[in-house]
Amino acid sequence: MLLLTLTLTLLAVLALGFWVFALAPGRRENQVFAAFTWLAALWVANDLNFWGFHGPETDGTVWARNAFLISMGLQLTFLAFSWVFPRPRPVPKGRLALLMATTLGMVALILFGPAVEDVGFHGGEFHLTMTPATFVVGGFVYLLFLSARVRAVAEARPDPPGSSEDKSQEDLDRQLKVILLSPLVTGTITTTAIVVLPLFEVYGLLPYASLGILAGALMHSYAALNLRFLKPASAFDDLRLFPVTAKLSLAVACFWLATVVLLVGVVQLQLGGSLAEPAWQQAWVYALVVGSLPAMGLILLAQRIVTRPLRQVSEAALAVASGRTDVRVELDQGSGRDEMSLLAESFNSMVDRLERDLEVQRETAQTLLRTERLAVAGSLAAGVAHEVNNPLAAISSLVQIAQSKAENERTRELLGDALGHMERISDALRDLLDFARVPGQTTRQPCRVNEVVERTVRLLRYDKRLRQIELSVDLDPELPLVLADGDQIQQVLMNLLFNARDAIESRREGEPEAPARISVVTGVASGELQLTVKDTGCGVTAEVRERLFEPFFTTKPPGAGTGLGLAVCRDLLRAHEGRISLESEAGQGTEVLVSLPLSKESP
Ligand code: ADP
Ligand code: MG
Repeated sequence: MLLLTLTLTLLAVLALGFWVFALAPGRRENQVFAAFTWLAALWVANDLNFWGFHGPETDGTVWARNAFLISMGLQLTFLAFSWVFPRPRPVPKGRLALLMATTLGMVALILFGPAVEDVGFHGGEFHLTMTPATFVVGGFVYLLFLSARVRAVAEARPDPPGSSEDKSQEDLDRQLKVILLSPLVTGTITTTAIVVLPLFEVYGLLPYASLGILAGALMHSYAALNLRFLKPASAFDDLRLFPVTAKLSLAVACFWLATVVLLVGVVQLQLGGSLAEPAWQQAWVYALVVGSLPAMGLILLAQRIVTRPLRQVSEAALAVASGRTDVRVELDQGSGRDEMSLLAESFNSMVDRLERDLEVQRETAQTLLRTERLAVAGSLAAGVAHEVNNPLAAISSLVQIAQSKAENERTRELLGDALGHMERISDALRDLLDFARVPGQTTRQPCRVNEVVERTVRLLRYDKRLRQIELSVDLDPELPLVLADGDQIQQVLMNLLFNARDAIESRREGEPEAPARISVVTGVASGELQLTVKDTGCGVTAEVRERLFEPFFTTKPPGAGTGLGLAVCRDLLRAHEGRISLESEAGQGTEVLVSLPLSKESP
C-alpha cells in the first residue's frame, strides 16, 4: 500500500513538473517551478527507496542526508520562484551571497557534521537521533521557507481598489492564493510527520511525509488546469493548449507502460520465481519511474520540433484570419531547415503577398474615389457651361442688334470686339461640353484626325499651365480618314498632352532654364496613321517605363495623378486596333507614338 501510494505520488509529481515545463520551456518561472517540482519528485523517490525497500537492519544515514539536502534545495527554489513570479525582480546581490555562504555551511554540516547521526532500522525498529545540529539545519530550512512565503505574500498584496482592471489580474490573484496555500498545506503535513511526531518518538507517519507533497502537487495541477497558471496567454488558451502534444503524450505514456510491463514480464518469465518478492517490487517501481524519463524526453523533443513550431504557425494563421497582416512566423528553434521552417517561410511569403494585395486594393479604392469625384466635377462643369451658353447666345444676338444700329464707328468697333470675346467664350464652352459628354457606345465613323487635334489643342489653350509651354502642331494636310471615334481619339490626345505638360513642369522645377516645348505631329508611315506627341519634359527611367501602362501606376503626388491616363489610352487604342508606344529616357524628354490603321474606304 505504501509502495503504491509513494509510486503514484512520485509519478504524479514528475508529470506535473514535466507539464509545467512543457507549457513554456523558455520562461523563467516555468523553469524554476519545474525545477521545484522535480526536486519534490526526488524527495519522494528518496522516501520511496528507503521506506519501500528497507530491511530490518538498514542504515538510514544516506536517506536522511538526502532528505535534508533535497528539502534545502526545495526551499531555495521556492525562494527563487518568489523572485521570478509573477514578474521578475532584481535579486539583491548581498543577500544572495549571504544565502549561498550559509547554504554551503549547512551542506557541510549535513555531509560531514553531526546533523545526521544514527538513523535507520535496528532489529526491524526505526530509530532516529536528533542532535543540536539537526535542529540548526532544520531551522535553516524553515527559515528559507518562511522568507520565500513572506516574499510571495508581499507580491500577492492586492492592488489598491480600482486598479485591477481585467480578468487576468483576477486570475493572477487566484494563482497567487494557490501558491501561498499549497506550501502551507504541504508544510503542515510534512512537518507533522517528520518533525512534530518524531519529537515524541512517534515515527509511524514518517513514511507518509511525501503525501504532503502530493497534496501540494494536486493543488498546483488544479491551478494549472483552471487558472492558466504559468501558462502564456495565447489564442490557444481555449483549446487547452497544444492538443497535439497532449495526444502525443498519451500515446507515449501508453508505450511506456506497455514497455515496462513487457520488460518486467519477460524478465520474470526468464528467471521464473528465482527472485524474492521485494526484489520484484523494486524492479517494478524502478522500471516504472526510470522508464518514464525517456518517455518525457521524447515528448519534449516532439514538442520542440513539431508542436511548438506548428503552434506558432497556427497562431499566426489565426491572427491573419482575424484580419491582421502584420504577423510573421519566426520559429525560435535552431537554424535547422526542415518541413516546419519551410511551412513557416511559405506562410510568411503568403502573408507578404496578401499584405501587398491589400495595399494595392486600398490604393485602387482611393483612386476610384478620386476618379469618381473628377467625373462628378466634370459633369457639373458641363452643366454650368450649358447654363451659361443660353444667356450668352442671347447677349450675343442683342449685341449684334446694337452693333447694326450703332451710328458711331468707334462704338461699332467696340461692340465687334465684345462679340469676338463672346465667341471665344462660346467656343470654350462648346469644347468643354464636347469633351465632358459621356461617351455612349463607341461609334466608329470616318474621322479626320487633324480636326480632332485642332479641336483638342484649341480646348487646351484654356489650360493656364499649358499656356506657359510652347505648343507646336504640324499636321499632314494629306492625312487620310481613319475609322475612329473622334471623342475617344480626343481623349487619348488630351491625356498625352497633360502628361507632357506635367513632365515639363516637373523637369523645370529642377532646371528652370530647360526648354518647354510640346509638338504634335500627324502623318502616314508604314501604312498607318501616326500621331506623335513629343515633349522636352523629365522623361522616365527604365523601371518606370516598364510599368507606365499599368492601371493606377503613377509617379505623381496623390491627387495629381490617377495612373489611369495611359492605361485608358491603351485600351481605347486597342479597341481601334491601334497601338501606343513610348520612348523616353530620364532627363531627355519623351516621344509618344500613336498609330491607327487606315480606313479601307478612305480616298
Ligand atoms: P498619371 O498621369 O495619372 O500619373 P498616366 O497613366 O497618364 O497616369 O501616366 C503614368 C505615369 O507615366 C506618370 O505618372 C508618369 O510618371 C509617366 N509618364 C507618362 N507620360 C509621361 C511623359 N510624357 N513624360 C514623362 N513621364 C510620363
Ligand atoms: Mg496622365
